[in-house]
Amino acid sequence: MARKTPVPEANQKVVLNCIHQNCPSCGQKMWRDYDNYRTIRTLSGVVRIKLKVRRCSHRECERYHQVYRPEEEGVWGLPGPEFGLDLIAYAGSLRYQEHRSVPQIHKVLREKGVNICQRSVSNVLDRYDELISVSLTDGNRIKKLLGSQKQVILAIDGLQPQVGHEVLWVIRDCMSESILLARSLLSSREEDISKMLSRVVEALPQTVTAVVSDGQTRATPARKPRWGRSSSFNSQRCSERLTWDATSTMSLSLL
Ligand SMILES: [Zn+2]
Repeated sequence: MARKTPVPEANQKVVLNCIHQNCPSCGQKMWRDYDNYRTIRTLSGVVRIKLKVRRCSHRECERYHQVYRPEEEGVWGLPGPEFGLDLIAYAGSLRYQEHRSVPQIHKVLREKGVNICQRSVSNVLDRYDELISVSLTDGNRIKKLLGSQKQVILAIDGLQPQVGHEVLWVIRDCMSESILLARSLLSSREEDISKMLSRVVEALPQTVTAVVSDGQTRATPARKPRWGRSSSFNSQRCSERLTWDATSTMSLSLL
């Protein structure tokens, strides 16, 4: 159904660059091709995101002209919906940990200043349910998502809507922008996260070229992400461990 109300005006602006600037397939430089824009409603406001998209320009490469978007995009929002991952995690925790109804969740979000209607709350909860139910054992799904690509660049994001809430962990492939696994865990212990990551690595026929993360759980919805180094992750099939970094030219400014 076509939306009846415009997306609220953004009060934050974010510019995202690709951490990987060399093609994951041929290894040559991917040139910055164009900018893409998204507006996402988060718990801390409406964010206008500028994405500096790259593509491989080498004709002989199997990824010739295929799009590569900034890895960090998924921390803000999943492909498609205009609602941020933090908002989805928060609504999910209110529904399944606190057993709140849709009208109650709507009221809580409105009180937090989120401009959202009750129908959209239901959509956000549907998205949460979809996320949690993704399966690694469905070979057809994985095949459909990843097609014939030979490598994956995994990103792992953890969102804890509020202290004491479960942490929503999402593992995705940055090359295809696919969600591979999402789970709500009581803890953010590295042991639990490593188990999740190992399940993904073992289930995929593709080579894991790198694993990227913001290095920590985003602990509160009202806080903008901080960036830092994370501790190492052991995977025999992963050749590189990277984190989002302030030097990746991410910038955040108030409009
Ligand atoms: Zn290439």
